[in-house]
Amino acid sequence: MRVAPGTYLVASGVQGCSLTHDLDCNCWLFETGEGLVLFDTGAGLDIDGIFAVMDEDGLSPDRLSHVFLTHAHGDHSAGAYVLQQRTGCKVFCNRLTSDLLDKGEPAFSLDVARAAGVYPSDYAYTRPSIDGLVVDGETIRIGTLLIEPLFTPGHSLDHYSYRVRRDGIVALVTGDAIFHSGRIVYQGIYDFDVRQSAESIRRLGTVDFEILLPGHGMFVRHGGRRHVDAAVLHLDKLMTPRPIEFVAI
Ligand SMILES: [Zn+2]
Repeated sequence: MRVAPGTYLVASGVQGCSLTHDLDCNCWLFETGEGLVLFDTGAGLDIDGIFAVMDEDGLSPDRLSHVFLTHAHGDHSAGAYVLQQRTGCKVFCNRLTSDLLDKGEPAFSLDVARAAGVYPSDYAYTRPSIDGLVVDGETIRIGTLLIEPLFTPGHSLDHYSYRVRRDGIVALVTGDAIFHSGRIVYQGIYDFDVRQSAESIRRLGTVDFEILLPGHGMFVRHGGRRHVDAAVLHLDKLMTPRPIEFVAI
């Protein structure tokens, strides 16, 4: 689903637009002129659904060249292995995410999420092979696309956001660091840290961008900064970030 020139939403679950499997996060795809670059992969339970959404916009999965992960949580990273197998794309993430994937499911809270019923009891996770590591502030160029990784922990200890620029498009892929209306998700996992989350939101409040592309919920085509600014104003009043409303599944 095209959201801006060369910019597409290709997966979204029940906490978003229900384009694909209920458990999928929002996955954002960019045309680079030298292939397609995807941010996050969904839960890995409906790769054919993602390909069908891409097909609606004439985007061939064969052109998928790179995947970037925001963090290790299953609804964002579990599709990476299948995408690698089916398209040969390269998978990039930060060192912390790679380490969590090495340590296994408890490190990225998949065991407790499965036990809590967030994922089906038979949900299986296969670790993708990591082809490259991103580093905070080290910009990556792929074709016409400039990708700037930004360390934004708090939602989880390994969370990164990405500023993406091309031809006047300036987008911020925020994963689960901040959502529409400046909201976050409060979660009972070991590495959720609301103070870190607040600091990450303040950092994002210093970044210039126009399009807000969060990991769940609605995106913002123009003036995306207003949604981060709203959260910063809230923090300035010594309040904690406001919680997102989740649909029960
Ligand atoms: Zn998450």
